[in-house]
Amino acid sequence: MQNFTLHTHNNELRFDGHASAREMITAAENKGFTTIGVTNHLIMHPTLNFTENEEPMFFHDFNQAQSAYMRHIEILENLKSDFKINIKIGFETDFFQNKDWRNYFEKMITRLPVDYLIGTSHFLKSEDESFLLNIYHLKRLQTPLEDEVLKNYVINHLKNIEQAVRSGYFSFMAHLDYCTIFNLAEDSSYDPYKLKILDALKETGTPFEINTSGYDRINRPHPAPWMIKELSQNGGLVPVVISDDAHYPERLGNHFDKAEALLKELNYTNRLTVDMLKKPC
Ligand SMILES: [Zn+2]
Ligand SMILES: [Zn+2]
Repeated sequence: MQNFTLHTHNNELRFDGHASAREMITAAENKGFTTIGVTNHLIMHPTLNFTENEEPMFFHDFNQAQSAYMRHIEILENLKSDFKINIKIGFETDFFQNKDWRNYFEKMITRLPVDYLIGTSHFLKSEDESFLLNIYHLKRLQTPLEDEVLKNYVINHLKNIEQAVRSGYFSFMAHLDYCTIFNLAEDSSYDPYKLKILDALKETGTPFEINTSGYDRINRPHPAPWMIKELSQNGGLVPVVISDDAHYPERLGNHFDKAEALLKELNYTNRLTVDMLKKPC
């Protein structure tokens, strides 16, 4: 059984976990894990023009974002000496295609002393990113999006994940079909876009996670088992890692047994290990 976790959250600063970094690390150590990766959300974009009260984790000022991320790294560095467990520092990064975002992000990752970055997207978007909506906030819309518009934004979301893989910034990709938690992109008309994400993983050799939080929400992991199966030839075409995406201490390692059983069933032996994490460059 995988005895480490590389995708966890806490409630330091403006982040959305439900326990402090110290509580999360203590819980991981008590569980017998050898490593915990601490990966709060890195979300910055000029379109996300909200106040700190409205959306504490969204930054539209890149410099402010960078100083918050630096402060979080300092908090973790200061905790390291109190623990035996190996602590890795990263961020779960929302990838965007906006030119300013890419320019700033590329400079920022040379300055942020992180061990790795997880890539993802949590946003529905217009092609030019003048419209961005965190999928989690769909229910807040006063007027629901028209079906065609919504479909277009979902397709852009999936294409964006493919581009995130191709960017080469990330050590591994999070919950590839996250949007299906919200009943989006479930019918087979979206399969070609999901398959393109898998092609991008294969072509670039980018690892991906099996996110076990889905077992609690929709009774299956992310990505869906058919997508994992697509990657499972010859023991696995790219490395896979199991993630709990824990926002609470008690969720650490949750359902790892189910994910292990699935990998065994698929003969998926190509596993991402902590030593394989690459620093962003
Ligand atoms: Zn996520
Ligand atoms: Zn997460």
